[in-house]
Amino acid sequence: MLGLYKERPYEKKIIFPMAINPLLNPIRNVANKHDVREYVEKLDDAVPRTKGIIYIHVPFCPSICTYCSYDRVKYGKDDEEDYVHHLLEEMNLYSRKKLIQSAGFFAVHIGGGTPNMLSDGGIRTILNTLRNSFNIEKNAVINVEIGSKAYSREKLALLKDLGCNRLSFGVQSFDPGVRKRSALTTSNDGLKEMINDIKQFGFDINFDLMFGLPGQDEEIWESDLRKAVEFEPASLDVYCYYPINSKYYSLYKRKQAFRSGYRVEMPNEETILKMTEMTFTLLCANGYVQETAEDFAKPGKFSIIKAVGYTKNEISDNYIYLGMGPNSIGNINPYVYRNKFYNVPRTKSYLSDSSETGGFPIFLLRKNISPELKNLVLFPKVIKMKKARIGHRLLHEFSSRIEDLKARNLIMDDGDNFMLTDLGKLWIDNISYEFMNAEMKANFEDTIFSYSEA
Ligand code: SF4
Repeated sequence: MLGLYKERPYEKKIIFPMAINPLLNPIRNVANKHDVREYVEKLDDAVPRTKGIIYIHVPFCPSICTYCSYDRVKYGKDDEEDYVHHLLEEMNLYSRKKLIQSAGFFAVHIGGGTPNMLSDGGIRTILNTLRNSFNIEKNAVINVEIGSKAYSREKLALLKDLGCNRLSFGVQSFDPGVRKRSALTTSNDGLKEMINDIKQFGFDINFDLMFGLPGQDEEIWESDLRKAVEFEPASLDVYCYYPINSKYYSLYKRKQAFRSGYRVEMPNEETILKMTEMTFTLLCANGYVQETAEDFAKPGKFSIIKAVGYTKNEISDNYIYLGMGPNSIGNINPYVYRNKFYNVPRTKSYLSDSSETGGFPIFLLRKNISPELKNLVLFPKVIKMKKARIGHRLLHEFSSRIEDLKARNLIMDDGDNFMLTDLGKLWIDNISYEFMNAEMKANFEDTIFSYSEA
């Protein structure tokens, strides 16, 4: 490592994950009738040669990990039936729209929660309905997130049989102590067996890893990274732990320990910076390319986050990001939307009470900002951005800020593109924040987290 973590171009490091980025997720904009009507009307406009990704959210988990800050519920069989029933209804609604019919989908991502928690029948129904309802391209990447707590070889065989070709495996950490504190019950031997199975079945494997987890120090994180690369996954999604909304963080805030006696501690900011530098240094030294703030892939291997990030980014290409299922987010020009969560409003059926939104389970909806501004703000998240996609007007408007970032060795410029420097990769969200206008900053207020203030 170069020791870049010691440099302090900003007073504090801020974090806001891609998934709750208000540019991609209309956090505050409750859908109004007028916008919903326009959204639904636009779905009837066919746009030839449109490309897209489908995202399906599965909200169930077998048990809740202590560090979890995602949207999920504990699995129940009746709930699964209700969920699948309503998901099929939502698929049916979209599949009848001309815009969706004219799109070729080059990737399907089934995420969660823990999608492999669903019954065989549930998984089969969802994947078969997807294929029958949408134009999924022949060589499309069909990716499913799987968790170790709901793992079985039979489920792998089923996913293979249904045409899935990539599995995203939630490892988080290999360290037994960290796993125990996080309520991740699978042993290292168990993980190893599962990873070998996944590879034997011929799936491309992606690992989800996290740093900054309860009890995880720099040494443990280095060992996690080294163990991960030994398995040679095709790609890795590596997240800095974002504690807001987790049980762990609420105990920490209340200065309480777990009932089991574990102390609740948060890493300091320097440790987080060190772990960030260690991540890209070690992974790039092992043949991975950093594709976005959070993901790394072997050359030529598919990176779902990159695809999603660029899809949401390349507005001018009219890509569609069709999110379905409770709490999923989507981007269908000119709108970004978010579906109702599983129990909103006070019912398990996320599609209920949707008559005012044309039957679509949309809860939040707003118009996209201009593609050029979005490209500028998201550029640090995707590491590299063509200047042409930012446009002359914004390049001119932000010229002094851009020059300042270059002078501070945070970004560089090869003539056609802006790129982050290695130092810039430690301060991605701070740089992104510099390009936001006042309204965006206000929208981000509640989602920003800083370890220096934890
Ligand atoms: S498996 Fe993932 S979504 Fe489910 S509880 Fe654990 S961290 Fe949360």
